[in-house]
Amino acid sequence: MPESQAEFTELLRDLKNYIVLGNCSNVIISSKGYSGNIILTTELKEFEIRGTKVFASCGVKGPLLAQKTSDAGLSGFEFMIGFPGTVGGNICMNAGAHGQSICDNITSCCVFNKKTKEIEYKTKEEMDFSYRHSLLQEGGYVLLYAEFDLKKSPVEEIKSLIERNLEFRKSIQPSLSTPNAGSVFKNPENDSAGRLLDKAGVKEFASDNVKVWNNHANFIINMGEATSEDVLELMARMQNAVKEKFTITLTPEVIFIGDKTKKEEELWNMLYKKTQK
Ligand SMILES: Cc1cc2nc3c(=O)[nH]c(=O)nc-3n(C[C@H](O)[C@H](O)[C@H](O)COP(=O)(O)OP(=O)(O)OC[C@H]3O[C@@H](n4cnc5c(N)ncnc54)[C@H](O)[C@@H]3O)c2cc1C
Repeated sequence: MPESQAEFTELLRDLKNYIVLGNCSNVIISSKGYSGNIILTTELKEFEIRGTKVFASCGVKGPLLAQKTSDAGLSGFEFMIGFPGTVGGNICMNAGAHGQSICDNITSCCVFNKKTKEIEYKTKEEMDFSYRHSLLQEGGYVLLYAEFDLKKSPVEEIKSLIERNLEFRKSIQPSLSTPNAGSVFKNPENDSAGRLLDKAGVKEFASDNVKVWNNHANFIINMGEATSEDVLELMARMQNAVKEKFTITLTPEVIFIGDKTKKEEELWNMLYKKTQK
């Protein structure tokens, strides 16, 4: 857990086998662990607001940014209030909700190039953003920090949007203290994964350790002792149910990290390989 950008880049230059993670809110970590290094960015918490510009290190949490920018009368981060992603995780996933996405207000990203081991600046266009996708997912770069340009707006309007977003989440999503990794599958074009899963009857799906959230069919809850294999098995059942009913193959949004059992290798191939572009 590096505590400064200098320490972070030193680790990135020195370590050979590593994965960079933020708040781990979009990942299933293998129960077998990972035979490499994990760099957690959550101590990289510097941010600065200058006029409408916001500079944020990769480890800054989204809900904090939403609060601080709303206090400053800046609109654009209201969607971040209800989920626990860091700036690095959010940019990697191009996180979004309630009609907003992290890429909307980005002006530049400072990244570490894993091949050359140099620091580079990427424009928004170079970050190759699309729905739940960015350049960072291709594996060649690590986000160090990002710069945004937000819009001036009355504080009451921003706060009221934040309240509405929080209320909406409370009504359908598991709370942040219930172990889950957010939406399991991405929305297919012009449809909602939650709707398809619901119609395919997956809300009934459960095993001893994991279950589908009864209020929203695109969430899996760890009941306490679940292994990564339990989660992948349930994901495969959910994907199959939608395939059988609608002939649509849902693409996982959650990312599997670490070493796999033989069974997990098979499940992973089924779930991820056939849905990757
Ligand atoms: C209850 C709940 C609700 C959620 N709601 C939403 C939602 O509405 N919208 C949405 O989009 N997501 C949602 N999520 C999913 C998740 O919060 C987001 O995907 C978030 O962006 C992940 O951020 P993180 O810091 O936890 O990333 P992690 O889970 O730690 O990592 C995710 C990916 O980002 C990569 N990464 C992290 N930091 C860096 C970095 N500095 N440089 C390069 N790569 C990096 C990791 O390697 C990994 O591949 C929700 C999750 C939960 C638990």
